[in-house]
Amino acid sequence: MSETKTKGKTDVKNTGIPVKNLPSTSCEDANCPYHGKLKLRGRIFAGIVVSDKMDLSATVEWHHTAAMPKYERYMRRKSRVSAHNPKCIKAHKGDKVRIAECRPLSKTKKFVIIEKL
Ligand SMILES: [Zn+2]
Repeated sequence: MSETKTKGKTDVKNTGIPVKNLPSTSCEDANCPYHGKLKLRGRIFAGIVVSDKMDLSATVEWHHTAAMPKYERYMRRKSRVSAHNPKCIKAHKGDKVRIAECRPLSKTKKFVIIEKL
C-alpha cells in the first residue's frame, strides 16, 4: 500500500491511493472515500465529466485503444461509467477527473471520483 499525501490534513482519510489534489472542504457523505466509510479497490481511470446533472453522480468518459487481431491494428474505443461525485469534490461538466472502483453504490454506480486533475 502506498501512502496518501495528507499534507497535515488529519481529517482526510488515507484511501491507499496517492492523489495530488485532496479535497479542500469536508463533507458528511457516508459514501465519500475521504470523509465517509467507502473503501476503494479495483481499477483506476482518468476521464472527463460529460454530465453532472444528477445529484451526487456524474458521468465520466474516456477513450482508449483496443487491439484488433484480425487486421493487426488498433481501434479507438470509448468507455462511459456513472461515478459517485462527493460534495467535497463536486466535479462539473468538462472537468478532468480520476475515478476509482468501489463497491456497487447503486445499480449502475460502481466508481467514485477521487480527484480533479
Ligand atoms: Zn468528502
